[in-house]
Amino acid sequence: MKYIGAHVSAAGGVENAPIRAHEIGATAFALFTKNQRQWHAKPLSEKSIDAFKANCEKYGYTNKQILPHDSYLINLGHPDIDKRQKSLDAFIDELKRCEQLGISLLNFHPGSHLREISEEICMDYIAESINFALDQTQGVTAVLENTAGQGSNLGYKHEQLAYIIDKVEDKTRVGVCIDTCHAYAAGYDLKNDYAGVMQDFSDVVGFKYLKGMHINDSKATLGQKLDRHHSLGQGEIGWACFEKLMQDARIDEIPMTLETIDMAIWPEEIKALKTFAGLSS
Ligand SMILES: [Zn+2]
Ligand SMILES: [Zn+2]
Repeated sequence: MKYIGAHVSAAGGVENAPIRAHEIGATAFALFTKNQRQWHAKPLSEKSIDAFKANCEKYGYTNKQILPHDSYLINLGHPDIDKRQKSLDAFIDELKRCEQLGISLLNFHPGSHLREISEEICMDYIAESINFALDQTQGVTAVLENTAGQGSNLGYKHEQLAYIIDKVEDKTRVGVCIDTCHAYAAGYDLKNDYAGVMQDFSDVVGFKYLKGMHINDSKATLGQKLDRHHSLGQGEIGWACFEKLMQDARIDEIPMTLETIDMAIWPEEIKALKTFAGLSS
């Protein structure tokens, strides 16, 4: 089964996210469990947690269909130990919020070396941070997102994702989320060589680690290393890739969510994807 949705707003409380997802015809959703641009957030209230769970049940969202995204401020590979610790503390808090909500996945960008340390040392720090965070929590899988390679962000090559996974002790609680816009901007030609890109992913990382996908077209050109999302079919990638994705039997039972730029057309984008997947809307 293909679970298809979008990154919906949690404004007014996390319990509103499943309602908003349902309203746009989504069978999967992403959300922020706290303000993504601030370090600190109030703990989730009992009331909010209960309402979130009740709404997920009401609209049929199981934890296979929900992929929260962590704060943009977190950098688990920060070169500075104090700043890395601050990120680690915030990451553990995010994992605990997922635990409280009964969510089993947390999506995050691996980290950035800020041109102060080598890529390898940064990836070692990221893996060390993940190990520490997994040790402090239970039941939630850390899901590394591939990046466009903008600035000094790591995770723009399958090899980098594999390197980090290799150093994570509990392989049952680490996975990846592939963002199609990021992959294309990083140089993976999903438009002209879908099969080749997926084969490389299979060989280097492995589909068993694929825990989610972000379905975005790209304003940036192939290999431009810029993270600029576009609506499906309006960017450099085009519809054909998304049709192939929806028909790819290796990619199933995971949340696939839009982060495209025009929320107003999310219902149509979801509908189109469902049609490609052979699902009725
Ligand atoms: Zn993404
Ligand atoms: Zn992006």
